[in-house]
Amino acid sequence: MKKRIGLLYGGKSAEHEVSLSTATAVSKAINYDKYEVHPIYITLDGQWLRGPQLTEAVESAEQLQFTKNDVQENNITEFILDQGKQAQFDVIFPLLHGTNGEDGTVQGLLEVLNFPYVGNGVLASAAGMDKVVMKQLFEVAGLKQVPFVYFIQHEWSNQQEKILEQCQTELTWPMFVKPANLGSSVGISKANNIEELKKAINFAFQYDRKVLVEQGIKAREIEMGVLGNNDPKVSVAGEIKPMTEFYDYDSKYKDGSTALVIPAEIPSDVEATMKDMAIRAFKILDCAGIVRSDFFVTDQNEIYINEVNTMPGFTPVSMYPLLWQHTGVSYPELIDTLIELAIERHSEKQ
Ligand code: ADP
Ligand code: MG
Ligand code: MG
Repeated sequence: MKKRIGLLYGGKSAEHEVSLSTATAVSKAINYDKYEVHPIYITLDGQWLRGPQLTEAVESAEQLQFTKNDVQENNITEFILDQGKQAQFDVIFPLLHGTNGEDGTVQGLLEVLNFPYVGNGVLASAAGMDKVVMKQLFEVAGLKQVPFVYFIQHEWSNQQEKILEQCQTELTWPMFVKPANLGSSVGISKANNIEELKKAINFAFQYDRKVLVEQGIKAREIEMGVLGNNDPKVSVAGEIKPMTEFYDYDSKYKDGSTALVIPAEIPSDVEATMKDMAIRAFKILDCAGIVRSDFFVTDQNEIYINEVNTMPGFTPVSMYPLLWQHTGVSYPELIDTLIELAIERHSEKQ
């Protein structure tokens, strides 16, 4: 019998558009002989709309953007509470990024509903979304990373001078200022002096109540894909070469100004160390299914972990699928494997 896949995409986040292109790409690659595909679109204002079953690839994202008029059911409580309706899915495939998608909240909902779902669970998603918690766990795992300082808005309002002093004592210029809970470079800026630092911090606070300031590093950006549950495998490495000053939102999604070099040109011992670090990061966060581990590598081949992404970009031209393609796993095979891993993980919990 075909497996019934609930494709969950859109979402109330800055990465709504990205999610729509991912869902479009998955609709083109998924094997309709093996799967029944049921789209569930979360609108920008947070409504869950279940569209008609997909039986073939959609041409464009518009076809996946249902409105209330297109669908019969749009009641989230009904969807959650009606067991008969839940049984319509064997696996939920969340293609969501950022807040309410990649941060453990949707994962918690799916746990409560007892659905198998693709990717990371509540803990890994939440820990991976909060850059401060993630870094503290990396520290516990002994993973090398750049120094950082963090604080909440309340502290910034009351102790601005002290925080600025701490940044200047513990870190060197340039510094990178980031909202703790975001992705896609949103809210991130580089500060070269104290005035820019203040501005960058106030900017980051527009996105979150917690902010971190990191020491800037001059390094190559190299990434690896991890795939698996209990015995995760690591892909070849890929390098990001942004043409802009850093890998910001536009260079990620808009202007195509970023070159991806796969496999990255790195010595084999550096690659081996990175693989080991990628697995250690995966394990300390208790990840499942899918993770992309991002590193900084200096001219001296010093390796620093930057972050993990628990729902990395997943279009066929995104780094994660490309890394697996170069490792011998095609995009449709990747989709199959992730669905199998979701079922495996769910069965272990029973
Ligand atoms: P996101 O989760 O939004 O991708 P990152 O922490 O990866 O956030 O930062 C986005 C980009 O900013 C990185 O890909 C890199 O180009 C740049 N960057 C971030 N932190 C640093 C740093 N400490 N030193 C140098 N560049 C950095
Ligand atoms: Mg990220
Ligand atoms: Mg990043």
